[in-house]
Amino acid sequence: MKNYFSFSEIQSNLRTGKLSCVDRVQFHLSNIREKSYLNVFLSVYEEEALTRAAVIDKKIKNGSTGKLAGMVIGLKDVLCHKGHPLQAGSKILHGFVSQFTATAVQRLLDEDAIIIGRQNCDEFAMGSSNENSAFGPVLNPIDHTRVPGGSSGGSAVAVAADMCQVSIGSDTGGSVRQPAAFCGVIGLKPTYSRISRFGLVAYGSSFDCIGVFSKNVEDIALVLEVIAGADEFDSTVSTKSVPNYSDEIMQPKKFNVAYIRDTTESEALQPEIKNSIQEAIAQLRSEGHTVEAIDFPLLAYILPTYYILATAEASANLSRYDGVRYGYCSPEPKDLESLYKKTRSEGFGKEVQRRILLGTFVLSSNYYDAYYTKAQKVRRVIREKTKAVLAEHDLVLMPTAPTTAFKLGELTDNPLEMYLADLFSVQANVAGVPAISFPYGKDKKGLPIGLQAIADDFEESKLLQLTKLLTKE
Ligand code: GLN
Repeated sequence: MKNYFSFSEIQSNLRTGKLSCVDRVQFHLSNIREKSYLNVFLSVYEEEALTRAAVIDKKIKNGSTGKLAGMVIGLKDVLCHKGHPLQAGSKILHGFVSQFTATAVQRLLDEDAIIIGRQNCDEFAMGSSNENSAFGPVLNPIDHTRVPGGSSGGSAVAVAADMCQVSIGSDTGGSVRQPAAFCGVIGLKPTYSRISRFGLVAYGSSFDCIGVFSKNVEDIALVLEVIAGADEFDSTVSTKSVPNYSDEIMQPKKFNVAYIRDTTESEALQPEIKNSIQEAIAQLRSEGHTVEAIDFPLLAYILPTYYILATAEASANLSRYDGVRYGYCSPEPKDLESLYKKTRSEGFGKEVQRRILLGTFVLSSNYYDAYYTKAQKVRRVIREKTKAVLAEHDLVLMPTAPTTAFKLGELTDNPLEMYLADLFSVQANVAGVPAISFPYGKDKKGLPIGLQAIADDFEESKLLQLTKLLTKE
């Protein structure tokens, strides 16, 4: 069956009856089946999706449908979907079934989207390669010996391999953008607080953001419009009105773009990515945008700040998995304390345990001020300086990651090296501003290169417009 590049094309064919929602679901199901070796889906809701597709087909015939009628969507395994399993890629949530539906997911359903399944990811969204999943790694669809990126690896691959039209993931430090870059698709992390976190499994609550993957930037604009905005179940979500991104994307502007010198000249940066960024800068200039190099002396502090604060928050958030309230419970414990210890030692993987230990350490009374308080202060300065740059420029352009997709197993023995994969993606999370990754060419091995742009709070439209201008295979 023909693959349609954009959802608007699908919708117009659905309206004329050239295509049905059932066809669309079948198409994606057959790709999921054929490429099951990529290990993308943890559950596929085959029957449910087909039944729903048939219902929506009827609604289309009657002319009364939601905005996303016929859009087939996959969910990262950190989003609650009532009555469906949810494990956050972890053994500790074995057997857990969502008791309610995340606000973002509910809004998709209310607009007649079709949920096709639950996607593999790093355990509790901690990782940059999808190798920390209790269900084994997802493979990169372009080269099966390589990682898809993480933590939303399954979600990126599902879109790249046409297993769904759109995926919903989460981005705490780059988990939507970095896998999008590794797999050659677009990934948006909106402003912190733009989308309700109700029903999103918590990792680092002051960073966590729901994000969107697609091959097509218009699809992302449409989905963002649907899922963003105030929610009575999340008091941290912004009440700012949600723009019509789909319209705004059609009105291209001339941008004033900055790039941080150190991010384009960094030793750690793969040469082909260096070339790509130079090429993008030249393209922007030739199309009448202004592009200026700037310095951002705080760059080296962003990654450590992220890893101190995110682990601190993770250690608190993950304390709820105690073997009593959710999922896995170690058999035959001696007493309550051994129940906690055994459940958590057996249920959590190595990386999650490392982060709980790190987070507990930085929050411990002797070190609290030296690490946690200090990192909070540095975070504040990073946000202020980032905002100052964005007050003078529409966008900051930079690589999404220092390298293209690396080999499976290449960094697993070296957590610090793995953390460096997030070198450029964490700034947007630490500052809370929105960012997007889009494909911009390939390296010598044919692996996709992703470039990233960040914008000021609530300026997602600029990111979508730039992506529309620059994206190339
Ligand atoms: N790779 C980063 C980490 O491991 C980001 C993860 C994320 O965004 N969820 O913390």
